[in-house]
Amino acid sequence: MRIIVQKFGGTSVATAEARRRAAERVVQACREGYMPVVVVSAMGRRGEPYATDTLIDLARQVKEDVPPRELDLLISCGEIISAVVMVQTLRALGYEAVALTGGQAGIYTDGNYGNAKIKRIDPRPILSKLQEGKIVVVAGFQGIGEDGNITTLGRGGSDTTATALGGALQAELVEIYTDVDGVMTTDPRLLPEARILSAVTYREVCEMANQGAKVIHPRAVEMAMAKNVPIKVRNTFSDAEGTLIAAEIPERVITGLAHINDLTRVTVKLNGGEDTRRVQVMVFSLLAEAGINVDMINVNPGEIFFVVRDEEAEKALTLLREKGLTASGQRGCAKLSVIGAGMQEVPGVMARLMEALDGAGIDVLQTSDSDITISFLIKQEDLRRAVEVLHRKFDLHKG
Ligand code: ADP
Ligand code: ASP
Ligand code: MG
Repeated sequence: MRIIVQKFGGTSVATAEARRRAAERVVQACREGYMPVVVVSAMGRRGEPYATDTLIDLARQVKEDVPPRELDLLISCGEIISAVVMVQTLRALGYEAVALTGGQAGIYTDGNYGNAKIKRIDPRPILSKLQEGKIVVVAGFQGIGEDGNITTLGRGGSDTTATALGGALQAELVEIYTDVDGVMTTDPRLLPEARILSAVTYREVCEMANQGAKVIHPRAVEMAMAKNVPIKVRNTFSDAEGTLIAAEIPERVITGLAHINDLTRVTVKLNGGEDTRRVQVMVFSLLAEAGINVDMINVNPGEIFFVVRDEEAEKALTLLREKGLTASGQRGCAKLSVIGAGMQEVPGVMARLMEALDGAGIDVLQTSDSDITISFLIKQEDLRRAVEVLHRKFDLHKG
């Protein structure tokens, strides 16, 4: 059985015309001899009747807090509606299709409402429908806990449904259809000269996604990597070849840039006394107890620096000051990450990056790095210019 998983994101199923284009992709796969398993997101974006954010707003308008179980039950409906409408679209083209919820498709999660992880997949329900000659359309972004409750997989989680099914069904390929031509060197909304990458490694795209590039969910990439299932990111609305995501691809020093906005840089002054270590531990325990995520951490005997989201800054600063610590925050920062599997073996990458930023008069507030990523914390107003100069410095616009 040659199985292909084809996932269509919110904009790819938003209108009747878009759904027809999506269905044609499915029909084309059938003609090529594949058995398609289709995964759909909820239709459209906030404001459109069955979009995820619209459903969330609907419940919150009644009362701001919504029990996590009920919220998941509600937002899972967006994808279910979309699956049934996609079945109808395929039937209108003369193809037999069946819609399954995540649970009906055999997707079992850890039961963590709002951000559940897929624990296991029973492939039998989908395989038996495929054997009946039907196209299977699965509602993305959901599964059931072992107790039978519906749980959702975190925002953007339909990508994860697709790659997890790809692994469980031993699909030849997982296609992620979206509204751009593929994975690009940087966010095209920020820099129009961003270029499509014809191939990227799992690790690179996972880093890009973790560092703010919303094109694919990082957990989706991890699931594909674990089973070595290739992914193709393609545009529903164009014939562009798209981006292949796989384990091995020709390496280059820098592959792409990603960014996260709306960050605050927190500085905590330490007095260097003998209780320094105790205070260092206390700072991070306080933040952990309050559920505040910290990033770009730098601890030294005189100071502690870290980054939190702007919306959590006030809470973090208050907690620290209540303990008598001297803490200050610089709001409106952005984290710009430079990603490339090839940078590991090449000396001088940091020097070239710093040179380019210096040439543009951009102050670097802090940096962090891992083997394939270097991240810069800069002022948000410098972000666009920084993306532009780094993109140029490494000839990312040239391909
Ligand atoms: P879907 O609804 O199809 O899942 P998303 O909105 O989740 O689509 O993801 C696609 C969007 O990701 C694009 O419209 C684009 O603006 C954004 N994006 C951010 N960074 C990148 C990047 N490096 N490459 C491609 N798209 C990116
Ligand atoms: N509809 C969900 C969301 O908006 C899941 C997805 O689109 O992948 O987050
Ligand atoms: Mg998405």
